[in-house]
Amino acid sequence: MNIVVLSRNPHLYSTKRLLEAAEARGHNAQIISHTHCYVVIEKGAPTIFHNNKSLLDIDAVIPRVGASVTYYGSAIIRQFEAQKIYTSLTAAALVRSRDKLRTLQLLSMENIALPKTVFARHPDDIDHVIKQVGGAPLIIKLIEGTQGLGVVLAETKKAAKSVIEAFYGMNANFLVQEFVKEAKGSDIRAFVVGDKVVGAMVRQGKEDEFRSNLHRGGTSKVIKLSDEEEEVAIKAAKALGLNIAGVDMLPSERGPLVIEVNSSPGLEGIEAATGKDIAGEIIHFIEKDIKRKK
Ligand code: ADP
Ligand code: MG
Repeated sequence: MNIVVLSRNPHLYSTKRLLEAAEARGHNAQIISHTHCYVVIEKGAPTIFHNNKSLLDIDAVIPRVGASVTYYGSAIIRQFEAQKIYTSLTAAALVRSRDKLRTLQLLSMENIALPKTVFARHPDDIDHVIKQVGGAPLIIKLIEGTQGLGVVLAETKKAAKSVIEAFYGMNANFLVQEFVKEAKGSDIRAFVVGDKVVGAMVRQGKEDEFRSNLHRGGTSKVIKLSDEEEEVAIKAAKALGLNIAGVDMLPSERGPLVIEVNSSPGLEGIEAATGKDIAGEIIHFIEKDIKRKK
């Protein structure tokens, strides 16, 4: 097959691994930057151009779209969809997963456990909002933040109030969320491909850090998920319409609570922790999925 990895940076570990894994399985693979693509739309003939040449003869696209270009990336993916080219990530699922509120709304509709979360906008509601999530300490998070940036732990009610007021003043969209203290700065990343978990790791934030993101200095190690954790991860990916997903869960007294579902999950941490060829699993899944859809 002719496979395109849509990525802005050919030197990223995940991009390189997907290219390598596709070639190892006998495919022609190339990396194309979505921001170097443009779309021409006219009656009946939607086309994508790259370096002024139209992209033809592509069998599958694997999008790896960064958070800073979600809108542009989703437009390019939608265009591939319009041309009936297989994509491992649909534009709709990408956009859904980038919005933390929309993600939680979808999860809650599917009866998936999550930390209690409030979305509000009126300054008169602040006291009620804080009460709803069980008071301080609590978490305040920007709806489109990533890599742990934009997530605040407010330890006292006073701190919570002033941060919420500041965010209102900036017109920012944010969530107020129950702080899951049992997690103790750790979370579980389950890597879902198709309808199975192909690898899982527990990430632990560095000392004095409640955020476990590897980008914030967290460390990871492989874990064996419980049946419940595995089930929840698969269900969460499905709720968002994702074939390939990094599902983040916080361990709690009431079982795993899903906080986020990533649509371009990084491969470096999970391959290092598990020692598995996750990129190969992705290519294998795409081969099967294309056959199934034909
Ligand atoms: P990002 O998209 O920036 O990674 P997350 O919602 O995943 O945002 O939060 C980043 C990290 O902060 C999580 O991995 C977790 O360690 C911690 N965290 C997030 N929400 C909570 C919460 N409700 N309770 C405790 N820790 C949390
Ligand atoms: Mg996260």
